[in-house]
Amino acid sequence: MKKLALHWQILIGMLAGIVAGYVLSEFSWGRDFVVDWIKPWGTIFINLLKLIAIPLIVASLIKGVSDLDDIRQLSRLGTRTLGLYIVSTMLAVMLGLVIVNVANPGGFIEESTRTDLMASFGANAEQNVTKAGESRDRGPLSALVDVVPENVIGAASSNGNMLQVIFFVVFFGIGLILIPQEKSDPVKRFFDGVNEVVLKMIDLIMLAAPYGVFALLAALVVESPSADVFKALGAYALTVVVGLSILIFIFYPTIVRIFTGISYGDFFRGISPAQLLAFSTSSSAATLPVTMERVEEHLGVEREVTSFVCPVGATINMDGTSLYQAVAAVFISQAFGDDVTIGEQLTIVLTATLASIGSAAVPGAGILMLVIVLESIGVNPAGIALIFAIDRPLDMLRTVVNVTSDATVTLLVGKSLGKLKTPKAKEWDDHLEEKV
Ligand code: ASP
Repeated sequence: MKKLALHWQILIGMLAGIVAGYVLSEFSWGRDFVVDWIKPWGTIFINLLKLIAIPLIVASLIKGVSDLDDIRQLSRLGTRTLGLYIVSTMLAVMLGLVIVNVANPGGFIEESTRTDLMASFGANAEQNVTKAGESRDRGPLSALVDVVPENVIGAASSNGNMLQVIFFVVFFGIGLILIPQEKSDPVKRFFDGVNEVVLKMIDLIMLAAPYGVFALLAALVVESPSADVFKALGAYALTVVVGLSILIFIFYPTIVRIFTGISYGDFFRGISPAQLLAFSTSSSAATLPVTMERVEEHLGVEREVTSFVCPVGATINMDGTSLYQAVAAVFISQAFGDDVTIGEQLTIVLTATLASIGSAAVPGAGILMLVIVLESIGVNPAGIALIFAIDRPLDMLRTVVNVTSDATVTLLVGKSLGKLKTPKAKEWDDHLEEKV
């Protein structure tokens, strides 16, 4: 019997998790059972994915950078990557603004709902405001300073420092390009071997993916707030969902089709396991190993490109987050009865782009940085209390967009540098592999 494709397995795991969550929450012991006995398996699964991220970046990026023929190619790769990431993020913010202005979701929120939400989630909001304040109060160049670590082992000890690790590894790779070949070859071969091992480990972890997502979603269902908040915030949530869906289902596949010739079906067949994981984990960082593997092995972008563009994207490129921040900022402002002027909307384009770059690739990071967007247009940041209750499901969706956008930009950069295998060449490779 032909084995079910991975994305179907994951999807079945997700649905089974949701059903199990609902069924078990009907029993008095069900919630505790899920939290004590099912949720930990989901956490273990996410930990396994995160565990692999730093070794993967180190091994594949050293090999990738040193395979580039010269420094000029590296700078071309760098500028195209950053340029495309910024452009795509800005487009996402603008799309968010257009949709929220048309839909006007703030107009649907009743006075009483607003008071209730502020009362129940005000404390959480305050915590976030303080945390966001800490990151904002630093100097203008602090983001740059943060990229350069003072100790590489220290940097590699936290997934939150991914950019620092990337900095070190690219620097190391440049050194490797510049030394004589007989010296660099053994180093490259070593890291090439390590990279193969890490990719194999990802394959093994992915065998557990259907069970991992089952556990994650069952836990999410028993821990989620009641359906009433969803109703109260329906118009807002729908606005965000419409914006994110346009990006996922229309914008990215169309861009990919036009610039790389990869069809709608092939694109989704290639990237969907990463999308489903992004949805289940709400973390682009945890999804990164799978995103890289899918873009490289299933969409045909060569490792020199994926090893740089994907990890950088997971850290700084968050189209879903930026679109959501734009919609949320305008919604909160509307809910407080303030109109957002054109000038303020332009400010949002700028601050939401920066805030999404600054958001960590972990669950709930986007709402934290939203505080900065709100402050930039003079809206009371405690207003995030209004949207707290339904942030998680929207976080899941915006993470799917974040990951899809990383994959799209990787394909475009790969194509523009001649490092995207045509489907024919890839088919031939796969065929040879099967024969071996
Ligand atoms: N969870 C998102 C991510 O990891 C970030 C966010 O909260 O928007 O991509």
